[in-house]
Amino acid sequence: MKTIGVLTSGCDAPGMNAAVRSVVRTAISLGMTVKGIRRGYNGLIEGDIFDLDVRSVSDIIHRGGTVLYTARSPLFKTEEGMAAAIENCKKHGIEGIVVIGGDGSYRGARDLSLHGIPCVGIPGTIDNDISSTEYTIGFDTAMNTAMEMVDKIRDTAQSHDRCSVVEVMGRRAGLLALQCGIAVGATAIIVPEIEFDLNDVISRIKLSQKTGKKHFIIVVAEGVGGVEDIAKKIEEATEIETRATILGHVQRGGRPTVRDRVYATRFGYAAVQLLNKGIGNRVVGMNHGQIVDYDIYEALNMKKPFDTEMFEVANTTAI
Ligand code: ADP
Repeated sequence: MKTIGVLTSGCDAPGMNAAVRSVVRTAISLGMTVKGIRRGYNGLIEGDIFDLDVRSVSDIIHRGGTVLYTARSPLFKTEEGMAAAIENCKKHGIEGIVVIGGDGSYRGARDLSLHGIPCVGIPGTIDNDISSTEYTIGFDTAMNTAMEMVDKIRDTAQSHDRCSVVEVMGRRAGLLALQCGIAVGATAIIVPEIEFDLNDVISRIKLSQKTGKKHFIIVVAEGVGGVEDIAKKIEEATEIETRATILGHVQRGGRPTVRDRVYATRFGYAAVQLLNKGIGNRVVGMNHGQIVDYDIYEALNMKKPFDTEMFEVANTTAI
């Protein structure tokens, strides 16, 4: 391949810029030309495509968000959208594309590969909800942001002997809630993967109260939701003043951590090596700390079991 494209798609995640930088620099080192595609698959359909050189990705490794912008593109799922995307690839000489995003973006990459444009996916989402990889770009930064925010909430909960119910991101996966919950010493962690009974949470609070605990943090994953209702019920049952907080988009921004920058750089490097060998319809990922790659179809059909052992550790240590 002589010319490849790179795009970011779906939800943004801190570290996507580090991946873009890595893709561009690796490709150029291999003698390829790189085209940036703005706003995910929309840019491909609309022809919002521009040249990237080594210097155009300077000073972005430390920045959150994505300099390529990102978007959802319903049109891309239609025949008309796909035809326009292929046409623009031909027009700009794009022979392969690195797609940085989540499962949805992988499906788009699979479709493009089937239409003759080999694509390689890089996992980019703060939720770490992609089955084919242990790690996704943005997860570490988001966890650290959530932890810092909850630490601040804890200060005020401690001053007022309050209970704070905090919603962190994770629509389908509770991994962010689980690890953030452990890191902040949450009394209870509520995730979509494990059925929960609020009476158990209330019992845990009452049990800790008996040993002298006066303020409490309950971490709830976005996919479970209902934090206002949970807070109300806890207050009614325990008579402890209880507040609900939804952390929201603060978790999607910020300077990427070392881990996100390093993994993003390694994923970018690996993705370009595949395209350079003419290999597409693959995704890269992390398995036991090693970079691996899989067929996209196979990757999309994988299952990632919830870490019940870690959940048990959290519950045992937070009393
Ligand atoms: P993420 O990549 O973060 O999971 P989305 O699910 O929103 O985010 O997907 C991003 C984009 O990928 C969509 O807007 C669409 O253009 C494309 N996409 C998603 N699902 C499919 C699909 N089933 N087939 C083809 N393209 C898809």
